[in-house]
Amino acid sequence: MARELMHFIGGRTVKGASGRFHDVYNPTTGDVQAKTPLASAAEVRAAVVAAQKVFPEWAAQNPQKRARVMFNFKTLVEKNMDELAKMLSAEHGKVLADSRGDVQRGLEVIEFACGIPHLLKGEYTENAGTGIDVYSMRQPLGVVAGITPFNFPAMIPMWMFGVAVAAGNTFICKPSERDPSVPLRLAELFLEAGAPAGVLNVVNGDKEAVDAILKDPDIKAVSFVGSTAVAEYVYQNGTANGKRVQAMGGAKNHAIIMPDADLDQVVDDLIGAGYGSAGERCMAISVAVPVTDKLGDELVRRLKPRVESLKVAPSTDPDANYGPLVTREHREKVKNYIDMGVKEGAELVVDGRDFRLQGYENGFFLGGSLFDHVKPTMKTYQDEIFGPVLQVVRAKDFDEAAALPTKHSYGNGVAIFTRDGDAAREFASKVQVGMVGINVPIPVPLAYHTFGGWKRSAFGDVNQHGPEGVRFFTKIKTVTARWPKGGVREGASFVIPTMK
Ligand code: NAD
Repeated sequence: MARELMHFIGGRTVKGASGRFHDVYNPTTGDVQAKTPLASAAEVRAAVVAAQKVFPEWAAQNPQKRARVMFNFKTLVEKNMDELAKMLSAEHGKVLADSRGDVQRGLEVIEFACGIPHLLKGEYTENAGTGIDVYSMRQPLGVVAGITPFNFPAMIPMWMFGVAVAAGNTFICKPSERDPSVPLRLAELFLEAGAPAGVLNVVNGDKEAVDAILKDPDIKAVSFVGSTAVAEYVYQNGTANGKRVQAMGGAKNHAIIMPDADLDQVVDDLIGAGYGSAGERCMAISVAVPVTDKLGDELVRRLKPRVESLKVAPSTDPDANYGPLVTREHREKVKNYIDMGVKEGAELVVDGRDFRLQGYENGFFLGGSLFDHVKPTMKTYQDEIFGPVLQVVRAKDFDEAAALPTKHSYGNGVAIFTRDGDAAREFASKVQVGMVGINVPIPVPLAYHTFGGWKRSAFGDVNQHGPEGVRFFTKIKTVTARWPKGGVREGASFVIPTMK
């Protein structure tokens, strides 16, 4: 019998009441291991009420005390790292070491959030006018929500609630229905860390819960990460309802390889960044662009045996390079893209479609695939595939290569491999992409910088975590204060005050 998962509302686990559920698979065996309740609008509302009730108390707490809760939470997550990583791998399928990385990258945002007293400090001008001082302060918004994707079930919720709750907001997380157990466990640990009940709530659900979040007048801001179509929907509907929205979407990340690059290192980097986590990363490299045909021939010659020898195995195998995909449906989608690539005329150098793992025939495994001679006009190039598939698009020179990520509709991440500082500098300056790596294949910014793509990879103007995250989850108030000396009156003024 599949376990029934719960919601976490107002500091306690709550049974789903809608009667609707979503299957959570064990992607290694293909079995259904749990059922996620899918919240109705009324259940979302219950979480909003719980979060609203505690907001005044939490917002009024001095920031250092909130920081201490963040610090306790960090310690608790570290203590429970093994349990969290196993739970994450069991639902997502990524290898254990990668699941630890998922938790750790989230914890880095919690570490950043431990500095919230400093991050919330405003500015002060003494004597802005005679006897007048001006100061600004950052205040929390109220109840805010985060809607997260399946591929980083620990990191992305922590990107969002880490900053939001430290800043004094109360939070509703709506995790992916495909792997919700880690966010639920994080909410329990947050309570154990000393947060008042209702500061962090987890409501499981699908479109119905998302729509309820987008419509609820008491939810002031929505942070979303997921596919582009849903990101755009969330952005449009959330902003139409007067909410502050940041919505990160899909990606197609190019790696430009210049003829002077260290090719052995590039091959290692492409293998790791292209196939790690079965390519289910928004910062995965999915397109390699060797500059010159000669380099293209050599690159593909070296990549081929490496892709053929990838070790695809259960997440618990310490030697596995990557595990199964998240669901059967997603694996079929990736396979269909490989079929389409062949039909479109790209050369399938390594075909992972028929991969079977003995003993795990019903698991959602897929071998690594490699395409050469992919053209920008192909749909498989234009779309995000989100699987263990690397596409090689050859370019005759630097300009042709550099134009590809700039012209692509997505603009999340990009990398250039070269020893030429001039080329790298020009590329980093001109490319129309939000996150750039120079000899770094996955340029995910650290927690105290900010994460965000451009073009159809992100809707809204403010990035995730770092100083931008603090800006997103706070509003600024500016106070102009005068303490007139007793007995001195200036009389009524009918003109706008100016600096004389
Ligand atoms: P998804 O869009 O299917 O789901 C994301 C969230 O939206 C989930 O919580 C889901 O329940 C909800 N949702 C799904 N369909 C919906 C609908 N029709 N209406 C309202 N809500 C809906 O994304 P996913 O498959 O879970 O995650 C993979 C995608 O996320 C990829 O496209 C990947 O590139 C992207 N991603 C982007 C970033 C980034 O920062 N840019 C990071 C990680 C993942």
